[in-house]
Amino acid sequence: MRMKSYKNYKKLTTIEVIQLVKYSIGIEAVLDYYAGISLENVKGRKTKLISCIFHQERTPSLAITPSKNVFHCFGCHAKGDIITLVSLLKNVSQARAAFIIAEDFGLLDKVKPQLKLSIKEKAFDKELERNFRQKEKELFDFLLQVKQHFQAITKNIKNERDLQRKGGLYHIIAKIEYYLDLLSDYEDFSPEGRIDNYILIQRFIGKEIYPIYKAVQEKAIEEVSPNE
Ligand SMILES: [Zn+2]
Repeated sequence: MRMKSYKNYKKLTTIEVIQLVKYSIGIEAVLDYYAGISLENVKGRKTKLISCIFHQERTPSLAITPSKNVFHCFGCHAKGDIITLVSLLKNVSQARAAFIIAEDFGLLDKVKPQLKLSIKEKAFDKELERNFRQKEKELFDFLLQVKQHFQAITKNIKNERDLQRKGGLYHIIAKIEYYLDLLSDYEDFSPEGRIDNYILIQRFIGKEIYPIYKAVQEKAIEEVSPNE
């Protein structure tokens, strides 16, 4: 039987164990097991106040919210989920804390193939989402740089001729601002919407920004050349 648990243990990645622990263990059980505190007789409907386990105090200021599986101390400002709680109590990393909880609560023995698959999928989605968010951030930073660059150029417009040559940049800057908004309001979009936005912006960069950027670079060189 121990062999089986070891097999499961090896199969789940750290992210999967974290997900598994978060979805299956309640904060009441964690407090009871690791701190010997029972919430049963503690008053409070949604949130229960107890004496903090992370700092010395006379009046209880550690708020426990079982429905959200989180804690928050108004005294020492310690806060987080059950994994943070155990990592603080035992002074270990979040990953280690997740494995400790999983082991102590026998979760690794109980992982059924179907549950394991759903955890794997959830963890995969999370990782995918994190990677995509990183890509969105890079795109945002790039657009912001281009915008600042273009804005600097429009500041130097001094005459009619300059305006004719560089005036088109105002239009592009407005578009860049629109796309920056799309990238910052990513939470308002579905995953498909975010992917659509990403593709749209990449196309915009290739078709509109890049040619202008190139032209601006070439013209900048022209401007400093003596025979201009
Ligand atoms: Zn505290």
